[in-house]
Amino acid sequence: MAFEGLSERLQSVMSKLRGKGKVTEADVKEAMREVRLALLEADVNFKVVKTFIDRVKERAVGQEVLKSLTPGQQVIKVVHEELTVLMGGEQVKLNTAPKSPTIIMMSGLQGAGKTTHTGKLAKLLQKQNRRSLLVAADVYRPAAIKQLQVLGEQIGAPVFTLGDKESPVKIATEGVAKARAEGFDYVFIDTAGRLHIDEEMMDELRQIKAQTEPHEILLVVDSMTGQDAVNVADHFNKELGLTGVVLTKLDGDTRGGAALSVKSVTDCPIKFVGLGEKMDAIEPFHPDRMASRILGMGDVLSLIEKAQSAVDEEKARELQKKMRTQSFTLDDFLDQIQQMKNMGPLEDMLAMLPGANKLKGVKDLNIDEKKIGRIEAVIRSMTPSEREQPEIINANRRKRIALGSGTSVQEVNRLLKQFEDMKKMMKQMAQMTKSKKKRKGFK
Ligand code: GDP
Repeated sequence: MAFEGLSERLQSVMSKLRGKGKVTEADVKEAMREVRLALLEADVNFKVVKTFIDRVKERAVGQEVLKSLTPGQQVIKVVHEELTVLMGGEQVKLNTAPKSPTIIMMSGLQGAGKTTHTGKLAKLLQKQNRRSLLVAADVYRPAAIKQLQVLGEQIGAPVFTLGDKESPVKIATEGVAKARAEGFDYVFIDTAGRLHIDEEMMDELRQIKAQTEPHEILLVVDSMTGQDAVNVADHFNKELGLTGVVLTKLDGDTRGGAALSVKSVTDCPIKFVGLGEKMDAIEPFHPDRMASRILGMGDVLSLIEKAQSAVDEEKARELQKKMRTQSFTLDDFLDQIQQMKNMGPLEDMLAMLPGANKLKGVKDLNIDEKKIGRIEAVIRSMTPSEREQPEIINANRRKRIALGSGTSVQEVNRLLKQFEDMKKMMKQMAQMTKSKKKRKGFK
């Protein structure tokens, strides 16, 4: 996860302040000196660092902070607020057109993640029942059109292409016309990138902009490139007038400087962050939540939203009922595993909990996806009646299931035992809630 180094250092500075009953001006200055170094090391633009430190200092040495009952906490609050402001303050949502389709132009250098994030955004919108048309206007990079088609197929969004012999401006214009004629909610224009900014590329982008009049011009930048990402954003913004930035690859061990500098340098809001190669690895960017994560206060709100989007409410209610009536089967167990998988790596979820990086072992925690895959394989090798009534699974059946799933009889045994234990636990829980209700006089 990005920000790891920065986060650790800021948290250690903050914990020194937190414990103090009395905080002097000298304490604040010393803390700010350390914060300044930590930010510079995280590759935050030096001008941004200076402004940030000046603002925090000015507010933190103010009388109302130092004389308050919890001065340490108050300084941390100021740092949190200023970090939030630095990253843009409020969350900025995607623009929407007064009349469909909303036209979104995706720009960026080659390899930044433009095509991938076109797919991710369309998928995100699909979850809100919005239909997108993806327009393949990158005619230079070999296989770019094919890549978009594969992504489109994967997420179930149609792709518009005229091959690689037509001009990108024509493809974009016709794509938008098609989206309009066919009533799409969104149309994404996946434009061509180059390895470096050049005039020809800018010219083409300006023409596409002039012809299609997009409601949103997003720049996709790779956060791993640090200060370069900020320079690219600044340049694109001056040339093209961006409406938002998508900061990708924040899952890598980037130092995070780009996330902290883009908004201050370009005044262009970060609207989304990319956190992996999979189509679900995208999050709307909330400056305050990111500040909380960096300062180790956790990001419980994002965690809840993630859970909500991964869990089917109808199924959750059904499951509760099954737990109460003890009719939970191996099929339900399989469902649960799949919903867990929808939420992404467990490691990332834990990182959103307050103080998670203080928990020993979280960093090295590697949930073995292979193991989960084997559990799934075992359950899938069972017949429907075996999944309903595991008691019928005798020695012969166990052998057959192990063979069918490419596992061993021991693994099948282990899973059945775990399932039994889980059912026992559910039974106890159901009894506990029943007796509690009785005690309270409920029926
Ligand atoms: P484009 O040239 O800008 O269209 O870039 P692509 O969409 O083809 O992405 C370039 C590479 O970066 C691909 O291998 C992607 O899988 C990878 N990638 C894109 N976004 C992310 C991200 O958020 N995290 C990680 N780890 N990889 C990403």
